[in-house]
Amino acid sequence: MQKVAIIGAGAAGLCALRHVLNTPGLTPIIWEKSNVVGGTWVYSDQIDKDDYGLPVHSSMYKSLKTNLPKEVMAFPDFPFKAGNDSFIHHTEVRSYLDEYAEHYHLMEHIKFEHQVERVNPVTPGSSTTEWEISVKDLKTDVCTTIICQDIIVANGHYSVPKTPSLRNIEQFSGTMQHSHQYREPDQYKGKRVAVLGAAASGLDIALELTTFAEKVFLCHNLPVTIPSELPSNLLQVSGITALKDGTKDVFVLKDGSEIQANALLYCTGYEFTFPFLSEECGVHVVEQQVRPLYRHLIHCNYPSMAFIGIPFQICPFPFFDVQVRFFLASVTATIKLPSTELMLEHTRQSRQKVQDSGTAPRHLHRMGSLQWPHLEDLADDALIERLEPAIGILYEHVYRDREERVMEYKKKRYQMLLEINSFKEIC
Ligand code: FAD
Repeated sequence: MQKVAIIGAGAAGLCALRHVLNTPGLTPIIWEKSNVVGGTWVYSDQIDKDDYGLPVHSSMYKSLKTNLPKEVMAFPDFPFKAGNDSFIHHTEVRSYLDEYAEHYHLMEHIKFEHQVERVNPVTPGSSTTEWEISVKDLKTDVCTTIICQDIIVANGHYSVPKTPSLRNIEQFSGTMQHSHQYREPDQYKGKRVAVLGAAASGLDIALELTTFAEKVFLCHNLPVTIPSELPSNLLQVSGITALKDGTKDVFVLKDGSEIQANALLYCTGYEFTFPFLSEECGVHVVEQQVRPLYRHLIHCNYPSMAFIGIPFQICPFPFFDVQVRFFLASVTATIKLPSTELMLEHTRQSRQKVQDSGTAPRHLHRMGSLQWPHLEDLADDALIERLEPAIGILYEHVYRDREERVMEYKKKRYQMLLEINSFKEIC
């Protein structure tokens, strides 16, 4: 039997496990450092270290409701339970992942409280290498090593905060947090809060803060202001460049203007990190690009190693599902991958395309509406079923709706109409 190692039992790892179990000739080995499945969706009041003394993994905050309707969020073979709302509380997503694990009998395969410490190619430089994987049992501190033929990295990418360095920030006298540590708005009561970054979390948290804070500055460098009608104490301003020298709480913005705030919340995203990959694995994160990945997924030099969930601005669970099935089609030789040279050339061309289009290199893995043709191509090339087109259609509709009606869009309810590739709004 060919052993497939899986690191992590969040949504991506669970999906990988479900499909490996369903593939003749493959047997999975999966480790999860916590004692539950769900990863990001496992809310914790802890913000610094967890019960094992490790950095807290989840960045979930107490009130969070999904920013995608559950009708598109589901894995293609496992719908969410019918219920009243489309945009659901994070606890319901966690329950859904528990149910997915139960339905496909995944739990008994997962080695909980086991942290993968080191992954090393057995034959460095060989594209057919096996993998030596060292794992620590967190209950006993005992390490074991195992050899696997393939490896799926599904360790999640919303845990290690990315924080820009702002000039003079050490002089700031107010409170500072990253959205990774944000749980609830109480501590911002009556404050003037600068929220730096207006992607999904920045905008969502800024809106929540408006009911507690005196004033919220949503500081961002997006090319256009967010078009929605926003609460009167939320002001969109340009991004922060520095704390004004000699002041304790005046920030200088990119356009030269200034704001005064006594709390700063970084919503500036997360780093890709793979602390367990040895140097010999040859994986590098350069300008937030994970290299060298063929189609954002497969290691060009070592095609028995795949990374699930690197792209962002995607519909995560369906995306993971196609990625996993594509990788397994290559592992079982149902399809033949191009040579290493061709895969490297393909990634070089993707980078070039990004550069030519004027897109910042750090956005190489940003998908947006490109995810739909990307997933169709993966599915066709792997001879696997495509996602239902209605998923993309509803996803894009909600994306636009969020831009135009950020205060309202989560109140809507949707129903998929798969037979006509569409959806309907239910009042
Ligand atoms: P994770 O869920 O992070 O799982 C990774 C797992 O790997 C964890 O359980 C971790 O403990 C384990 N692990 C890590 N390192 C090791 C190791 N060395 N050894 C063993 N185990 C390890 N997506 C949506 O579809 N809809 C939303 O509305 C939505 N909202 C979001 C809101 C927030 C605040 C965030 C942060 C993300 C949101 N997402 C949303 C995206 C979400 O991250 C994905 O849906 C998905 O849960 C990611 O799954 P994952 O398996 O890749 O990573």
